[in-house]
Amino acid sequence: MKFISVHRANPAVSFREALFTGLAPDGGLYIPESIPVIGPKFLKKDTHDAFADIGKEFIAPYIDDIPQGDLGSIVHRAWTFPIPLIRLEGNIFLLELFHGPTLAFKDIGARFMAEIMSYYLSRESRRIAILVATSGDTGSAVAHGFHNVPLIDVYILYPSGGISQMQEQQMTTLGGNIHAIEISGTFDDCQRLVKQSLADKEMQSARTLTTANSINVGRLIPQIAYYAQATSTLRHGFSVSTKPVVVVPSGNLGNLTAGVYAKRMGIPIERFIAATNANDILPVYLKSGKFTPRSSIRTFSNAMDVGNPSNFARLEAFYGSPEMMRSDLWGMSFSDDETLLEIQRTYKQTGYILDPHSAIGVAAARHFMQSDPHQPFIVMATANPAKFPEVIRKAISLDIPFPASLEKALQMQKQSVRLSSTFENWKRHFLQ
Ligand SMILES: *Cc1c(COP(=O)(O)O)cnc(C)c1O
Repeated sequence: MKFISVHRANPAVSFREALFTGLAPDGGLYIPESIPVIGPKFLKKDTHDAFADIGKEFIAPYIDDIPQGDLGSIVHRAWTFPIPLIRLEGNIFLLELFHGPTLAFKDIGARFMAEIMSYYLSRESRRIAILVATSGDTGSAVAHGFHNVPLIDVYILYPSGGISQMQEQQMTTLGGNIHAIEISGTFDDCQRLVKQSLADKEMQSARTLTTANSINVGRLIPQIAYYAQATSTLRHGFSVSTKPVVVVPSGNLGNLTAGVYAKRMGIPIERFIAATNANDILPVYLKSGKFTPRSSIRTFSNAMDVGNPSNFARLEAFYGSPEMMRSDLWGMSFSDDETLLEIQRTYKQTGYILDPHSAIGVAAARHFMQSDPHQPFIVMATANPAKFPEVIRKAISLDIPFPASLEKALQMQKQSVRLSSTFENWKRHFLQ
């Protein structure tokens, strides 16, 4: 499988090259040249394969320069945690994607990317440095994914005072090959420093530099895996044979794009609902046919506060027109008040505590269920509610206990280097 730029101005490259360069030279995101169709044959199996084994079947066609056995070891090393599908109530199912080390779904893509990069590097005896600018969640998922991975150093640039204490503890206490850089500035400053570094000849010649943000195909492709596993479990574990509608709480639209690829590959999905907070760029596009990015608005579901979703370019390239996109995708947005109400309602009715992102997904499922009560819905549950104690307290007046892994991170010593936001300062630090 070759990868091309959404702008189609560059020659096609291998998965490996798309992985290590991140963005095509013409500035476009990489997309697969075609989507391989596998079909629903995997659903005929009556045995329950592990998540990693089902997932591997769907990832393998994109990565043709790694032997099957080696790819098997990569997915098993990356995904050491369960991804359970549970019945929330009636026809609403939740796919709990948050049992990885940082308790959010980004662990799934970040851990895969770390393992596969390390696999390629070990064959080339090459060392690289990965730079990431973060406003919180991405940094901790990447830090944990790459911690102790040989041949890779990770530099995480984050805005001083601009992330939650828990997020900061999760990415500054690992040490080893993970370097936390606290920038006196904003997230935009961090992003500027990363972009400038990637374009700086002196830094590039000192060490091979790349980035691990969510536009990288190394984080996108592995997300196809859990769509396959969820639909298989719905059929075999719950004996539901109607094609599910899948609800994706969305921000940068990476999760949704992986789902759309999964459906084209032959995984039985009726359609998708993109559920957003007040940052409703995609729902507006689906209504008006116009893509109008704008500055992001802060909400309770902050990992979805994206005003210019980068994966929109991939969706547009895939569908070609708003009409085609509408045949597969519906959209709906919810306010912070509606988010709190959904956390309350679900807790009252079922005892289950939703995090603010997953709550938006469940609210969307409830809305669309009214017109067809027999339709099964799978909602992607993207974070553990324990990461958002203030919102949960506001919604249901409950203090949820910290999971042991967070508790441990909170007690460890923060290790970070504090720098001003000037490029020269950062460059000197990196090169020393
Ligand atoms: C990143 C994130 C999302 C949004 O996913 P996208 O792929 O960016 O659309 C949703 N929920 C949580 C908890 C996240 O961390």
